[in-house]
Amino acid sequence: MPKKNKTLRLILGDQLNLQHPWYQEKSSEVIYLMAEMHQESEYVTHHIQKIIGFFASMRALADALSRMGHQVIYIRITDKDAKLRLEEIIDKQIAETGANRFEYQLPDEWRLDQQLKAICSKTDIDCSAVDTHHFLSERMELRNQFPKGKNPLMETFYRMMRKRYGLLMEGPSKPEGGKWNYDSENRKNYAGKDPLPEIPALKNDCSEILQDIQKAKLKFIGHVDAHSFEWPISREQGLKLLKHFCNEALPLFGKYQDAMHTDAWLLFHSRLSFSMNTKMISPLEVIEASIDAYRHSNGKITLPQIEGFVRQILGWREYMRGIYWGWMPEFGELNFLNHQRKLPSWFWTGDTKMNCMKHAITQSLDKSYAHHIQRLMVTGNFALLAGIHPDEIDKWYLGIYIDAIEWVEITNTRGMSQFADGGIVGTKPYVSTANYIGKMSNYCKSCHYDADDKTGPNACPFNSLYWNFYDLHRDKFEKNPRIGMMYRILEKMEPAQLAATLERAGYCLDNIESL
Ligand SMILES: Cc1cc2nc3c(=O)[nH]c(=O)nc-3n(C[C@H](O)[C@H](O)[C@H](O)COP(=O)(O)OP(=O)(O)OC[C@H]3O[C@@H](n4cnc5c(N)ncnc54)[C@H](O)[C@@H]3O)c2cc1C
Ligand code: SF4
Repeated sequence: MPKKNKTLRLILGDQLNLQHPWYQEKSSEVIYLMAEMHQESEYVTHHIQKIIGFFASMRALADALSRMGHQVIYIRITDKDAKLRLEEIIDKQIAETGANRFEYQLPDEWRLDQQLKAICSKTDIDCSAVDTHHFLSERMELRNQFPKGKNPLMETFYRMMRKRYGLLMEGPSKPEGGKWNYDSENRKNYAGKDPLPEIPALKNDCSEILQDIQKAKLKFIGHVDAHSFEWPISREQGLKLLKHFCNEALPLFGKYQDAMHTDAWLLFHSRLSFSMNTKMISPLEVIEASIDAYRHSNGKITLPQIEGFVRQILGWREYMRGIYWGWMPEFGELNFLNHQRKLPSWFWTGDTKMNCMKHAITQSLDKSYAHHIQRLMVTGNFALLAGIHPDEIDKWYLGIYIDAIEWVEITNTRGMSQFADGGIVGTKPYVSTANYIGKMSNYCKSCHYDADDKTGPNACPFNSLYWNFYDLHRDKFEKNPRIGMMYRILEKMEPAQLAATLERAGYCLDNIESL
């Protein structure tokens, strides 16, 4: 009798790409396996919107595949098997389905990559891994391009990607408009004059998923209106958000990319990271749709706006993935500045008198979202100045944001924001006093603290912590050509002024819980 052929194919929670070649053909010999797992829901405490977002999008994909005629086994978080580890679930399903072949898409997380390789090395059936057909560069290409000892510059990588894909190019090697980068034109403060785009109301009813999460007793942080869940949970909704962004927000995206405002949590950002990171939509289709909108906008969308957007996705997003695969697992342990402090408890409540921090944290708890500058120059800036241990920071960022998946979270957090990598991602630490925050936002205007004071009892903590940071890490930064200037300023400071500034910083650190 001929041997029966059965293939079990695993779909992970961030592999929700309905366009994947796997689904082009229907076969009675292929069974898809998807699982909501305690293993994935509990390695850090996640935001409730993140858990709902993932489960809702996974359930939507499973339904879509079933409607297309594929066979799908779906384990819900309330099922007994949801408590099993990934290897136990796979072993059990191989036995129950009689599969003689196991296939998976290459995971984007190092931990899962190791786990799946170990599963395959132990089983006696055939196993293979296929590409996710999502990213625009290869896992190891950044590492191979920049051999050991040479820091991989994002700008070099970005230009190579522009040429490779012919995006915003005039011919094979000349950038459209003659310049590669319009970053300097993208740093305007938002004064409230340009009307804000409407935020599309998606209103997904996810109340059943919330009940399941409560029944399964998953721990979570943050708030949600599960009857009216605002994040896209399907490819169709992701595309709707993309279209809305191109029409309404892209014309001013670059201009206000770095701005922050108490009355505008999203400003002109796209909110597309969740749809892209779960692979519901692809980076190339986002880039192409935005360039198409630029070309048909009759000048409403200018080159600096579209270039600023393309750089984020074709440049930063792909670059961070390259850093992740090229430098993991060591990257996850780096603590170049030897920071050891615990995260203050108000990071979990927003209960602080620092207005910028209060806004960024409260918004993150309410929306599971903060835009790039809030993450980098408010919460990240404070954490770095205060010397918080990068593990504590990673756990917070990985838990709180709906788009946080380790490959893009850890590289941004440990690398770009905390300089824990000693300069693999960035050439200098992203730190600032109240001066930058006050310039890019209206936060300081209504703050308990005085943005212009360094030393008094009401002085903004960022001001003294900033100089304390440079003073403390003199051995690491003094010879850095991009930072040396800060030490010339420190040297010129009156000794009494410096002593008072450092004393104020010491006070802030000793009383960090009540800032
Ligand atoms: C400390 C810190 C932690 C971060 N953690 C994450 C994370 O866990 N997940 C995540 O997707 N992004 C992360 N980012 C990058 C960035 O903040 C988010 O991608 C962005 O805020 C998502 O909102 P948006 O879709 O509205 O972005 P937009 O401002 O509209 O930008 C468009 C897209 O560009 C991409 N992008 C922009 N900047 C980056 C970047 N630095 N790295 C990678 N992609 C980028 C994203 O895909 C984003 O959707 C982090 C940044 C910092 C500084
Ligand atoms: S004064 Fe300082 S703490 Fe207050 S909002 Fe400005 S930067 Fe933040």
